[in-house]
Amino acid sequence: MRKPTLSPSKITTYLACPVKYRWTYVDDRGKWYLRSKSYYSFGTTLHRVLERFHNEGDSGVSTQAEVLAAYEESWIDAGFSSAEEMAEAFGEGKQILTRHVQMQMDRPKLAKTLFLERQFRWDMGEFALIGRVDRVDEYEDGTLEIVDYKSGRESVSQEEVASDIAMGCYQLLLKRKFPDRQVKATILALRSGESCSSSMTDAELNDFERDIHTLGMEILNEDYPDLIPVYKPLCGRCDFIPLCRKHHEYQEL
Ligand code: SF4
Repeated sequence: MRKPTLSPSKITTYLACPVKYRWTYVDDRGKWYLRSKSYYSFGTTLHRVLERFHNEGDSGVSTQAEVLAAYEESWIDAGFSSAEEMAEAFGEGKQILTRHVQMQMDRPKLAKTLFLERQFRWDMGEFALIGRVDRVDEYEDGTLEIVDYKSGRESVSQEEVASDIAMGCYQLLLKRKFPDRQVKATILALRSGESCSSSMTDAELNDFERDIHTLGMEILNEDYPDLIPVYKPLCGRCDFIPLCRKHHEYQEL
């Protein structure tokens, strides 16, 4: 039997709402309720273009004009409620990419890109932790920098990077694969170009790994059919609200 896998998305979904985890990953009925999201389409489009821009082997997407042409080709229109909303998002994406390309051209190149959209895996016994990183850059001193693009964000702080579970998971995955390297994690807020980095010590990573193992065991052993949905602010934006209403009485807070 294949070992179960947990990813940062699965872990954050469970922490936000275990019932949501059930409908997303455990119970097949959830898939009928999923709706396309404009922010997901927008983020996926930008990620695809940035992957091509930073790929030195993809020589066709290196100038401003080529990046914008790739953007038009890659555009995903699912989930937008109107042509106006989509046109506004398309314009924002153009601005984001234009600024990103300009910043890369203006900045001295201190690191080379080692991985793009690469999945890493770490065996944690009863399950494997997996995570797909947007980009990993390597500096001359051997330091590896995980770069995570956030397409909806204007700003980011060092505390936010340090407390982000996904960034912790990526550091754990990279550090276990490259134990001799310094590893740091960076969130790049694409709407402003602002970025912040954080790095865990070896002791912090060991503690984090233990916490992820404990949480992973809870996720794997949860009795999902018995979970009772509890109303929370998240429910207002959740695709599964009809499903939760159908199968259970809400415990209104
Ligand atoms: S509607 Fe609320 S309780 Fe139900 S899955 Fe979504 S967030 Fe969880």
